[in-house]
Amino acid sequence: MPDSDPSTTAARAEPDFGSVVMNAHSPREPGIGTVIESSRCTRAKATGFVRHVAIDVSQTKLAGAFRAGQSFGVIPDGAGADGKPHKVRLYSIASPSQGEDGAGNVLATTVKRTIDEHWNDHRLFYGMASNWLCDLQIGDQVRVTGPVGKRFLLPTDQAGHRYLFLATGTGIAPFRGMVMELLAANHSADITLIVGVPYATELMYDEQLRALEAKHSGFRYLTAISRHEQDDGGGPMYLDGRLSRHADAFRELLADQRTLVYLCGLAGMEIGVYLRLAELVGPDGLTGYLHAADGDLGDLGQWDAATIRKQVRPGPRLMAEVY
Ligand SMILES: Cc1cc2nc3c(=O)[nH]c(=O)nc-3n(C[C@H](O)[C@H](O)[C@H](O)COP(=O)(O)OP(=O)(O)OC[C@H]3O[C@@H](n4cnc5c(N)ncnc54)[C@H](O)[C@@H]3O)c2cc1C
Repeated sequence: MPDSDPSTTAARAEPDFGSVVMNAHSPREPGIGTVIESSRCTRAKATGFVRHVAIDVSQTKLAGAFRAGQSFGVIPDGAGADGKPHKVRLYSIASPSQGEDGAGNVLATTVKRTIDEHWNDHRLFYGMASNWLCDLQIGDQVRVTGPVGKRFLLPTDQAGHRYLFLATGTGIAPFRGMVMELLAANHSADITLIVGVPYATELMYDEQLRALEAKHSGFRYLTAISRHEQDDGGGPMYLDGRLSRHADAFRELLADQRTLVYLCGLAGMEIGVYLRLAELVGPDGLTGYLHAADGDLGDLGQWDAATIRKQVRPGPRLMAEVY
């Protein structure tokens, strides 16, 4: 286990994320990428449809310009019922900074088809961009923008940190890229990834992540299945339940000043995670991860969803991207 001497790094300070390119292509001047792969990344019988879509951006200004953790924009072809062109939608880059091809010319994302009954008339509701993107065939062109994102990034001193990645649903996307990047640079990088999904069939990149875990002793891949029992015993649990289940190990990890926590996924997930962080590290340890909008985190025992939304913000060692 690595030592936890705070003097080894500028512990409580915000990590240096290095330089980052933003909006090499704006929505007014998108680049044109080409789809080179589209494959299902959930198992058969999953309740939703999620695709891994890889796009060749070599003819755009995104080539070599994006970093793991950033997002890029997609502008679907055509126009809405009102005749106006479709607006840009953001998708997390699921690739390492070196891209799928190792040269920054191909980026991938993890797209979930938005499908529901319409709120108003219960007719089938198809999200515009997600279904358009998932329908694209190999060789089809796609208008791309970005990259965007200045803080949800790996630090420049990658080897100087330990990592706790927390994902729900397609929030796995940036972590796939980050895990690949960290392990390629350092065989024994210290990474814990926890993925929360409703059913095991919805786990994305599960085989790839299990293979990486088998190969790299410093990489731990844990799942939290909310609607049935866990593989390793225990009842249904949300992602934060997994933190409690291994409380001693997470207390040690979180107390280490080198640890960086990242969370990505559905808006609302941060509430359970923040409550659990507070329980695990207590008021003193919490300052690196969370701070209060008005400077006072108050009585942690009294936190509820409304207080957290209003009062609690990511601190220097916590990066959050929820949508
Ligand atoms: C930084 C960032 C990163 C993201 N990364 C990813 C990613 O990696 N993968 C991913 O899949 N998504 C990601 N998203 C979400 C993505 O941008 C889109 O919002 C999502 O794909 C839905 O877009 P859409 O065009 O398909 O749906 P839209 O056509 O935009 O429809 C969704 C909208 O329709 C409305 N709506 C929803 N349900 C109903 C209903 N039942 N009846 C009526 N109206 C309804 C809501 O207002 C909702 O906002 C990310 C978003 C952000 C901000």
